Amino acid sequence: MGDGICRDGGMRGNMFEKADIVIVGGGPAGLAAAAAACAEGIEAGRILIIERGGELGGILNQCIHNGFGLHTFKEELTGPEYAARYIGQVEEMGIPCLIDSIVADIRADADGKKRMTVMNRTEGLFEIEAGAVILAMGCRERPRGALNIPGYRPAGIYSAGTAQHYVNIEGRMPGKEVVILGSGDIGLIMARRMTLEGAKVKLVAELMPYSGGLKRNIVQCLDDYGIPLKLSHTVVDIDGKERVRGVTVAKVDENRRPVPGTEEYISCDTLLLSCGLIPENELSAGMGVDLNPATSGPIVNESMETNITGVFACGNVLHVHDLVDYVSEEAANAGRHAAAYIQSGAEGKAGKVRGDATGTDRIGSVEKGTIPREIKVKAANGIRYTVPSRIRLIHMQEEQLIRFRVKDIYKDVCLTVYFNDTVVMQLHKKIMAPGEMEQIKLKKRKLEEFEGLNEITLCIEKR
Ligand SMILES: Cc1cc2nc3c(=O)[nH]c(=O)nc-3n(C[C@H](O)[C@H](O)[C@H](O)COP(=O)(O)OP(=O)(O)OC[C@H]3O[C@@H](n4cnc5c(N)ncnc54)[C@H](O)[C@@H]3O)c2cc1C
Repeated sequence: MGDGICRDGGMRGNMFEKADIVIVGGGPAGLAAAAAACAEGIEAGRILIIERGGELGGILNQCIHNGFGLHTFKEELTGPEYAARYIGQVEEMGIPCLIDSIVADIRADADGKKRMTVMNRTEGLFEIEAGAVILAMGCRERPRGALNIPGYRPAGIYSAGTAQHYVNIEGRMPGKEVVILGSGDIGLIMARRMTLEGAKVKLVAELMPYSGGLKRNIVQCLDDYGIPLKLSHTVVDIDGKERVRGVTVAKVDENRRPVPGTEEYISCDTLLLSCGLIPENELSAGMGVDLNPATSGPIVNESMETNITGVFACGNVLHVHDLVDYVSEEAANAGRHAAAYIQSGAEGKAGKVRGDATGTDRIGSVEKGTIPREIKVKAANGIRYTVPSRIRLIHMQEEQLIRFRVKDIYKDVCLTVYFNDTVVMQLHKKIMAPGEMEQIKLKKRKLEEFEGLNEITLCIEKR
């Protein structure tokens, strides 16, 4: 295999027939995973990033506002600046990238190899064999079709991400008078962006009684510009046949049903939808990766490894993140573990699917044939999910981060951690909201000391 970015999507002969680690997706997750695998000792030329777009950097390329990288670089960067740091690392390391190329399907074969069908304009369809695969395909926005808003299909309805692309990449304005449905971070950021570009954002309506976005984005993108946010409201009708002329917004009850008599007509020529992100897991599901219904992302262990040995997942394909810094951190973890998997020679011996409690016999201290003890991490009472959802002690680092989201707004509560039935940690939380990802750190020593530990439960309890 060669090095450098293959900008034309061509394969330069057959140089990409085989790789130790193939990373699907060249966004921040894929880039950080690749750099970490290389830093861990995998030869750069044995790693391959495959990206369906014409550029590396993923969705960050259209996020031209600042606020990225505060954790990772202690600086405030724009999305493209943040991506450029990782693209620079990957280029310096000489990791090959196949751009303008889409991975159409992946198989995990009984010999432990992963074989994928890739497609691009110059080569058509071709197969690449990998020892390990890192899934880093990101997520897509929930489309209008999934929202059931009545009315015609007039021009002027966009997902917030599409509008972001028009404004920031193509320099085109989707409209002049805007209503935004959904207060996720992309919707909030687009409220500010459209305002700065001269549009009048009349309202952000949110179905839930709380915003799905970060507090800092509500303050900086709505409050600072006097844009109203109506919680427990939705769009019940869209007026206009050729082009949007206005929308009707109504209050919703606790069952999220519109309350008759609360309708309000707002004239506008544009409706932006920011109603959630869906991890892109068609490839994962197609190869037999178990998905968590709460995240729509793969179920992973402490190594970011799915139920298929040698298949790792990170970034938004795993669970939707608010901060790209966490994406990079998690992806580096996946990259290091994929490298360890290859270095241990596990791929040649691994069976296709790992059962509940078994694991591969990789990484130095584990004797061949032993089954690493696996501890389940369970989300209960108010916690929507955890990542990871299994920990194998033998592979655990000295400290393990558990990331999670809550189901509702909770004020003045305890975040409680149980080891089996015993409370081992209680943290007082003034407020917890679904829009803010939470995390706790577990120490390996504590897990080792607890005899018979087989389940860790995170839950919310009254103080
Ligand atoms: C529209 C949108 C706007 C966003 N705006 C912000 C923001 O303003 N601020 C913020 O902090 N976060 C924002 N996010 C969240 C942001 O996505 C994450 O912080 C971060 O970019 C996730 O990184 P990732 O690498 O997991 O995914 P992405 O950046 O989405 O990268 C995934 C990459 O995988 C590629 N890919 C997917 N499937 C395949 C395939 N089959 N074959 C080959 N390549 C494939 C995609 O083309 C893409 O480049 C936004 C997300 C979206 C969807």
